Amino acid sequence: MLPRDDHGRILLKGVPRPQLLAWAGEHGLRPGQADQLWAALYRTLRGEFAVMPELDRPAREGLAAVARLDALRLESVKRAADGTCKLVFQTDDGAAVESVLIPGKERATLCVSSQVGCAMNCQFCLTATMGLARNLSAAEIVDQLVIARRQFPDVWISNVVFMGMGEPLHNLDQVLPAIDVMVDDHGLGLSHRRVTVSTSGLVPQIRRLVAESPAQLAVSVNATTDEVRDAIMPVNRKYPLAVLFAALRELPLARRARVTLEYVLLAGVNDSLDDAERLAELVRGLPCKLNLIPWNPHPGSEFRRPEPEQVARFKARLQELRLNTSIRATRGDDTMAACGQLGRAPTETARRTRRPHGLPVIAS
Ligand code: SAH
Repeated sequence: MLPRDDHGRILLKGVPRPQLLAWAGEHGLRPGQADQLWAALYRTLRGEFAVMPELDRPAREGLAAVARLDALRLESVKRAADGTCKLVFQTDDGAAVESVLIPGKERATLCVSSQVGCAMNCQFCLTATMGLARNLSAAEIVDQLVIARRQFPDVWISNVVFMGMGEPLHNLDQVLPAIDVMVDDHGLGLSHRRVTVSTSGLVPQIRRLVAESPAQLAVSVNATTDEVRDAIMPVNRKYPLAVLFAALRELPLARRARVTLEYVLLAGVNDSLDDAERLAELVRGLPCKLNLIPWNPHPGSEFRRPEPEQVARFKARLQELRLNTSIRATRGDDTMAACGQLGRAPTETARRTRRPHGLPVIAS
């Protein structure tokens, strides 16, 4: 079953190459033309059938009658002082989808969303305050990359991280085909080493991702005791730290040398040197690299970002303990494009009712 829009048109961007070529064949395109269609979608990034010199007119008109090119419409691009760009897209049903383009020295990373909102309810994250509206389709996920490349033809977007809105492992049925399209050699051509899927820690889905996709895995750890992790990440009540780390140790990581572990630093909650020691203990023997993310503020939240000195101490302790540790620079925070700042700012009511419950320590 190929994905379709509300008018019954095939959403071409949601279909991995073998299936798309098969469909195109059934649809009267010659084999060479099917390849040209794929190239038009992902190499020349065409947005309209009318402007697709790759195909002759009958083929274009035949396709236009039954198929759809873009699944998203780019609504705005907001550039932060540091060059980070937040892209806001509109879906057919009027939802806003956000991606963030993070330029590097030579190549750029696109941070994509996998859902509108999120169901995980992590207490420190802005997207969580929206709840889950719906899953994005594979076409809507792929289109974030296609339209970003079209919008920034001079930027080499070589990396994709699923760290925007949503829990990608809650939406694997759409995320997996989207990754297939992104890593296809004849099209978008990302290396599987440069596609990273980040999860809050859904254990069965982690196993499925590793079994079914060549993408890299990142896990948001964010606490070193179940007490704290239960309070800030409700997923921990289902898959506590010991279960999560046992599962990570057992993964067949053949093509993925190391798991990335993310750790959002929250002042007075998870940033003590005892936390650093416990973290080193938790990851002992697991091939991993640690990414520390000083918390990014958003309106209505009671958490605080640790002082830079505390971040430096935390990192230094982990390095003494022989952990490969880096600090994720805060990018794009003047446009609310940094980690955990995507989504609608909470309304007054949401703000008032949202309190981190049962947190063991909240420094004032
Ligand atoms: N749901 C996935 C991916 C989206 S969040 C996950 O949980 O991994 C991407 C990263 O941003 C996660 O590591 C998350 O813990 C972190 N994050 C969320 N809110 C944040 C904030 N306000 N400041 C810094 N990092 C945040």
